[in-house]
Amino acid sequence: MKIAVLTSGGDAPGMNPAIRAVVRAGLNSGHEVYGVMDGYSGLVEGNFEKMSRKSVSEILQKGGTILGTARMKDFHNKDVRQIAIDNMRKIGIECLVVIGGDGTYRGAQALTEMGFPVIGIPGTIDNDLAGTDFTIGFHTALDTIVEAIDKLRDTASSHQRCSIVETMGRNCGDLAIMAGLSCGAEFIITQEHKLNKNDLIEKLKVHKSEGRRNAIIVITENITNVHELADEITEKSGFACRATVLGYVQRGGSPSAEDRILAGRMGSFAIDLINNQTFGVAIGVMNSKMIYLPFEEVFQMKNESMEELYQLVSKLS
Ligand code: ATP
Repeated sequence: MKIAVLTSGGDAPGMNPAIRAVVRAGLNSGHEVYGVMDGYSGLVEGNFEKMSRKSVSEILQKGGTILGTARMKDFHNKDVRQIAIDNMRKIGIECLVVIGGDGTYRGAQALTEMGFPVIGIPGTIDNDLAGTDFTIGFHTALDTIVEAIDKLRDTASSHQRCSIVETMGRNCGDLAIMAGLSCGAEFIITQEHKLNKNDLIEKLKVHKSEGRRNAIIVITENITNVHELADEITEKSGFACRATVLGYVQRGGSPSAEDRILAGRMGSFAIDLINNQTFGVAIGVMNSKMIYLPFEEVFQMKNESMEELYQLVSKLS
């Protein structure tokens, strides 16, 4: 078969190993593989590149995505998607592998409904997709956050400060929870575990009165203005508080071994599904096993929050 592969939405470390796996496993199964540049916009513009073993040489360790990625509003439009399908059919492409997050899956489902065979691979640092325990990129971003918090802890401890660290994750608290647990954070605030300012300030006062030298608060993005929160904590808790927004550094960097392995397994599994003519599905890893579910089912599932890990944070504090 002729297979196309693209990356879409926010870039995530591990997208390159996933592309490599799709290309290499695809070629080794006797398929032809085409890379699509810049996500769905490359499909619409007909920006395809035939891939060889060599096109994916030495990309395992590279962050970002060699195919480029994009956000394309127009892909919501059925006529625009029809151009994408026509472009693929023109050169004989029979199926598409997309690597991305929730929006990318919505686009994939829309193509599926128009009769084009698509397979989804979860690639986003946010870990905000249902139907998989982990998304490609999550563990690398987690390592980046842990490294940053460890450094902030040094300063917080030296100056007897409280430090607020804002992580990415959109509406998903997994990065904040796992980073907080890894770094011994005192408090974690996510969409599922809401901010109660008064309670937080009271706890910080107790913390201070017990003679603790510093405190780390990890908070998911889009919850509050962390700089204003830091000012209020400084004013009311007795701890001088500073906020750090980690931002895009979380999305970059060389993928961790865990993400490289996950990407390799998922990319290769996508080719297994193609060989079995299974389409319209998203790949996931659950309890360390590769699984797949129809896109529709993934959209209806709830992304499980890491409740047990969240509870552990206060038990170990
Ligand atoms: P991340 O989680 O890293 O942001 P994402 O895949 O969720 O990744 P989005 O920008 O939400 O990123 O989506 C990527 C692209 O998917 C969009 O720019 C758009 O082209 C396409 N897309 C999103 N939603 C739809 C939809 N409902 N129908 C068709 N295409 C869509």
